[in-house]
Amino acid sequence: MLIDQHNRIVNYLRLSVTDKCNLRCFYCMPEEGIPFYKKDKVLSYEEMLRICSLLTAEGVNKIRITGGEPFVRKDLPYFLKELAALKAAPEINITTNATLLGPHIPLLKSIGVKSINVSLDALDEQRFFEITRRNVYRTVFDNLNALIEHGFDIKLNCVVMKDRNIEDLIPLAELSRHKNISVRFLEEMPFDGQSGVRGALDWSYLKIKDYLTAHFGAMEKLPAPPNSTSQNFRIKGFKGTTGIIPSFSRTFCGSCNRIRLSANGDFRTCLYGPAAINLRDELRAGHSDLILLEKIQQALNQKAANGFLAEQENKELLKDSMAHLGG
Ligand code: SAM
Ligand code: SF4
Repeated sequence: MLIDQHNRIVNYLRLSVTDKCNLRCFYCMPEEGIPFYKKDKVLSYEEMLRICSLLTAEGVNKIRITGGEPFVRKDLPYFLKELAALKAAPEINITTNATLLGPHIPLLKSIGVKSINVSLDALDEQRFFEITRRNVYRTVFDNLNALIEHGFDIKLNCVVMKDRNIEDLIPLAELSRHKNISVRFLEEMPFDGQSGVRGALDWSYLKIKDYLTAHFGAMEKLPAPPNSTSQNFRIKGFKGTTGIIPSFSRTFCGSCNRIRLSANGDFRTCLYGPAAINLRDELRAGHSDLILLEKIQQALNQKAANGFLAEQENKELLKDSMAHLGG
């Protein structure tokens, strides 16, 4: 079992399979000139499977596949099948922009994927284009509807951004009125790949909650599952739920059970902190499983208590891209 230095059980890996993406969401990546990882620096699927196999044998029972856009990586279905076939098979969840996954729905069903997070920041087509810088609104909607029809547990994630998509918050929340989906609003984080920490957060989770309450009336607070990052509510009469994620305010760090592996092998014990170790280098140095696990445990022995302390360990301003880090 993996336990960090604060006695928290670590059982959830967020695995970024690529830093590449077919969209250019302005809060995540600059429009051009992105220093993508060179091919030989990216973990092969075999290397990822070895790490996942080690971690799942140590109790990691949930793996979220993310990126960049996971479905941009060639042969992702092969990797997902192998992951699902590990001896201690993890629950596999996926975070995606839903532009490319339509043809993969049968595979996702067949390997038992139940929960998919779809990023959608605007219901208005023009605003969607301005945020993502790509014209794929219809495809995202068609795929989203297909996922719902196939019975996946869908969480829609919307980053709340001043002057960009505030008009979309109520219409997005409305999507859960008749559909059993969870619409979640995230605080914007400073990981846009260029600017470094920006000014104070304008749309905090409290402001988001006040905004929704002013429109819908008091929302029923739902019990939070253990290790949850979202505060969950039900709006009166709604079939689905509404969530708010204090991703910048970081109120959920106390119960953190997460680790992250970027496509280049950087292993982070906190999104806000520097990489603790590069597992690609350790793997390619020919270490045994035992040594690799020791190194992972050493990293956990240094895990910061929360994202604010982890941030202090970064020598430079936070200006990485979420696509590099693995969202
Ligand atoms: N491409 C996939 C997608 O968009 O869902 C997976 C990777 S993306 C980096 C994962 C999540 O991170 C998305 O929900 C995205 O909205 C979120 N994200 C990216 N940059 C962010 C930022 N600066 N602040 C808050 N959330 C961000
Ligand atoms: Fe791509 Fe996701 Fe980043 Fe948007 S948020 S640019 S879809 S990785």
